[in-house]
Amino acid sequence: MESRVFLLSEAQGLSKELLGGKGYGLVAMSGAGLPVPPALIVTTEACRQYLKRGEVPGLWEEVEAKMAALEGLTGKRFGQGEGKTPPLLVSVRSGAPVSMPGMMDTILNLGLTLEGVEALARAAENPRFAWDTFRRLLAMYGEVVLGEKAEVFEGMLAALKAERRVEADTALSAEDLEELSFRYLRHLEARGTPFPMDPWAQLFAAIEAVFRSWLNPRARTYRRIYGIPEDLGTAVVVQAMVYGNLGEDSGTGVGFTRSPVTGEKRLYGEYLRNAQGEDVVAGIRTPEPLERLQDYAPALYAELLEVAERLERHFRDMQDFEFTVEKGRLYLLQTRSGKRTAKAAVRIAVEMAEEGLISKEEAVLRVEANALPGLLKPSVDRDKAPKPLLKGLPASPGAASGHAVFSNEGAERLNAQGLPTILIRPETTPEDITGMYLSRGILTARGGLTSHAAVVARGLGVPAVVGAEVLRVYPEEGRAVVDGVEIREGDLLTLDGSTGEIYLGAVPLVEAEGEALLQKLLSWAEPFRRLGVRANADTPEDARRARAFGAEGIGLCRTEHMFFQEERLPWVRRLILAQTEEEEREALEELFRFQKEDFKEILRAMDGLPVTVRLLDPPLHEFLPPLAELEEAVKAGNGEAARLLERAKALQEANPMLGFRGVRLLLLRPAIFRMQLKALLEAAKELKEEGLDPHPEVMVPLVADPKEVERARLLAEELFAQYGPIPFGTMIETPRAALLAGEIAPLVDFFSFGTNDLTQMTFGLSRDDAGKFLPRYVEEGLFPFDPTERLDEKGVGKLLRLAVEEGRRANPRLKLGLCGEHGGEAGSVRFVAELLDYTSASPYRVLTARLAAAQAGLRRAPLPVYR
Ligand code: ADP
Ligand code: MG
Ligand code: MG
Repeated sequence: MESRVFLLSEAQGLSKELLGGKGYGLVAMSGAGLPVPPALIVTTEACRQYLKRGEVPGLWEEVEAKMAALEGLTGKRFGQGEGKTPPLLVSVRSGAPVSMPGMMDTILNLGLTLEGVEALARAAENPRFAWDTFRRLLAMYGEVVLGEKAEVFEGMLAALKAERRVEADTALSAEDLEELSFRYLRHLEARGTPFPMDPWAQLFAAIEAVFRSWLNPRARTYRRIYGIPEDLGTAVVVQAMVYGNLGEDSGTGVGFTRSPVTGEKRLYGEYLRNAQGEDVVAGIRTPEPLERLQDYAPALYAELLEVAERLERHFRDMQDFEFTVEKGRLYLLQTRSGKRTAKAAVRIAVEMAEEGLISKEEAVLRVEANALPGLLKPSVDRDKAPKPLLKGLPASPGAASGHAVFSNEGAERLNAQGLPTILIRPETTPEDITGMYLSRGILTARGGLTSHAAVVARGLGVPAVVGAEVLRVYPEEGRAVVDGVEIREGDLLTLDGSTGEIYLGAVPLVEAEGEALLQKLLSWAEPFRRLGVRANADTPEDARRARAFGAEGIGLCRTEHMFFQEERLPWVRRLILAQTEEEEREALEELFRFQKEDFKEILRAMDGLPVTVRLLDPPLHEFLPPLAELEEAVKAGNGEAARLLERAKALQEANPMLGFRGVRLLLLRPAIFRMQLKALLEAAKELKEEGLDPHPEVMVPLVADPKEVERARLLAEELFAQYGPIPFGTMIETPRAALLAGEIAPLVDFFSFGTNDLTQMTFGLSRDDAGKFLPRYVEEGLFPFDPTERLDEKGVGKLLRLAVEEGRRANPRLKLGLCGEHGGEAGSVRFVAELLDYTSASPYRVLTARLAAAQAGLRRAPLPVYR
């Protein structure tokens, strides 16, 4: 039978899928000669089998055999001390193939019994340490295996501290910790879940509990947010304990080989003296920066620098590592590619390439293209901002304003009302993932830069400030207090995760400036990009911004946004109300002047580059006030409102998305078509007279039949005869247009795939309503991702492919573009990179599209994602 349990030395060369990320890292580190405590790894295969069948025949025998090897390696017996030799204790650790920090469970000090405590105390000559170790095991085992709430144990600890009138855990004596251990034991006994005084029973139950923790709700939520498959399962690492709680020359810490916030190359991290690992990761005590070790443990600091160097040379990436120091001796317990901000990702990739650690091509592939808009995060405008209310640690960059909430429920409640939120917690735990995900910013009173809140916020790209210690947070009461100022749920705050500052109210923000390092990375990437990148832009400002980000034209300029502006709306309404041709002409002439000026400014901003203008798309009633409002006005005796109401009622549609809009409207109200196209042609003509080089293109939306295109083309030709032709195209956004692409293609110069409508119509859903069920579909594993965010290659992509093939065959000169929301999403860009001529993305996503297109050109392989 296949083996399902391996010692570190036996697991060299096995995959991360099988060993989990944690096991894989431990195997690599011990193989590279770094100090790693001996361990065995139970594979993900065993977990999958356990979750399917509820048992894994023969597994315990295998574990026993490898434990015997572990006893040999450590010279200790599991759970049993002998004279000066302490008992072998182990940690039982979860570790999935992709890292899910803190989402599943780990138990330390396993194998200890009342007898073992005596032996441990004797061997270490330190009873306090032995009871400290035992009470930690009882609390962790009680929570993870026996299902008691963590707060119950914390509460009993707090009660004891209060009785002894001490503040810190470290101020409790050996007798206190013994007393605490017995209280825990009695409590577990009383609730009918006694603690097993048998090391092997503990071990087997703990392994099963870790297997099951794969299915806990917070782990599921995490997988949904990050798109991690449900069926991977977790490996289990059983590792000989080393002790960071043996006194002041012991401790535990977390290190990053470079800053995960800025990417700067220096050792970055935190250390907690006389503590076990859980204390740092959980953010329960605020640790000190690693630099402090230089003062009181310079040799240890130097050793950490050396370790960082070796880890980077081995893994060729920035590493996030966990370590423990036992009486001055360093042990490495974990390493993985560190999560980082978009800014750090770019800097690390560029600098590692310049250091020769990776190639430039690898550097290009290393940066997650979808994260680039995060580089352009705004910050607080310090010239206009008042004095900050308080300052914490800058844990995740970007600034945001939002309403204070103190719980997942609060975040859900306010977000449901459309209010952005800032989550405030004493510290965060994996239970808070929903609130963190929903919020624009995260603020905690405790914890350092590697606390749960900090790590998760950076991963989510949510601005965060942590360790704001002057803040007192009372989540149950829904309030926080700082310097006598009270913050209640709903209060407006602004948070700047780049500076750590918090302000009362909504404070003005400023946009970020372009990044020199990003430009360098893109200059390495560009030679590999074949796909053109344009922008979706409706205003001259958007056009200018997009151009600065490297857009090679506009792929979608929506004209209706121009109609919505305040001074124009009355003319649009007159157009809608027009009874006679005279009235219609008058309104159109007025709108013509506005549109021509708009087009001129946009063409000017994009001088020398193509600008695709889409003619009017929405149904006319969108330009009228809501019915209820009109009815009010009519009641108030407004004559014009009465006419508007009548028209609004006539125009009302049961399903406007599928109604009288797009080419349907343009063909039946051709005067609108002519006015818009003439404004565009006239604008170009005037610019040419100024000596500029405009390249307008025109396209019609929502066609479903070649006849519509033919008719629209005829209308356009009338004006082309007068002004000279420009490229004429159609959107392909109904499934029927995609199916008939071969008949449509000879009639046009280009197709632009409107993947928003195409997705909605292919799936038969509306983006506006899908929020009620799509997220749950993804959660339940029915869809792998939300198709309104990322292009569905399978179905919608099939239509796209078909239209491309038939379109090209029927018209070899046909140009092909994409202008849906998907045009700026890395996975979707990758899909169309070989298929189309260009993609068009919102201005901030132009960078994403450029990088993703280059990455696709560089290697048609999945993008690396830091997890
Ligand atoms: P997580 O996946 O939540 O980070 P880990 O399995 O890494 O959980 O365990 C959390 C912490 O427990 C580690 O960072 C480490 O400090 C501590 N730990 C785990 N195993 C051992 C061990 N064998 N000896 C000492 N400390 C350990
Ligand atoms: Mg860990
Ligand atoms: Mg559309």
